[in-house]
Amino acid sequence: MIIKNSMDLPQAFINAVSLEKHNAEGEFSATTLLKGACETILTDRHFDEIEVDVADCVWQIWGTAVHLIFEKAGIEGFTEEKFSVPVSNSKVTGRVDLYDLENETVYDWKTASTWKVQFNDFSDWDKQGLIYAWLMKQNGLKVKEIKFVALLKDHSKSKARKDFEYPQKPVVVHTVKVTEEALKEIEAFINLKVRQFEVAETLVDEKLTPCTKEERWATDDKWAIMKAGRKTALKVCESEEQAKELMGSLGGTSIEYRKGESKKCEDYCNCKAFCPFYNNCHK
Ligand code: SF4
Repeated sequence: MIIKNSMDLPQAFINAVSLEKHNAEGEFSATTLLKGACETILTDRHFDEIEVDVADCVWQIWGTAVHLIFEKAGIEGFTEEKFSVPVSNSKVTGRVDLYDLENETVYDWKTASTWKVQFNDFSDWDKQGLIYAWLMKQNGLKVKEIKFVALLKDHSKSKARKDFEYPQKPVVVHTVKVTEEALKEIEAFINLKVRQFEVAETLVDEKLTPCTKEERWATDDKWAIMKAGRKTALKVCESEEQAKELMGSLGGTSIEYRKGESKKCEDYCNCKAFCPFYNNCHK
């Protein structure tokens, strides 16, 4: 990666940022499998050309710091153990933060935003946890559950006081129960993703299938029914036809088109400069 330092931060800050390639040759990590093939392959392929401003790596440093602290504070069991299982022509890997042998429980330390809890948006952690459980099963270790312990970076005590649906403490625990059925489902997911990645590896950038809507955190286009003199919409519709149909009965005076966006592509994808889909959208 090419490191930029737009804020002229000290060398120690730069040293604190991990610049390691996420996947070794022929390997796909559990967290990589949650991403699109397009993002994973482009990131690996163009790793040495990708530019990163260290000032944008603050949350990565937070995450690393939290892991280091908990690694030292470990309990009976093992910490930071890497598992690797052959799948197709590749290997799937996962690094387990902490395994409590006695209770057959995996702990994973996370730093997260409160919105994740408020929107109950844990599908990525559910998959990640089950991939760990599957990897460990292949290595003869039983896992009953995975507990994601998340430190909430943006928690506000005053919001917690006013809203009982807001996380009441700056830490939450999300538990994933491991069942035989869930392990079978995750095995099918792993096989599918590895095959997708292996095919993508053989394609030139221009031929890669873009990441899916889900992988891009994409929102749909919307049509808002507006009323003159009012700032907020009377109603936000999924289609222009629906908005036209409802406008009269709601007393609206105009329809505002709100273009959907791919939040991941815009703000959280390191390889977007090399992505044909992203570049076509921004011509
Ligand atoms: S820019 Fe978007 S579509 Fe392209 S690799 Fe990144 S996340 Fe995927």
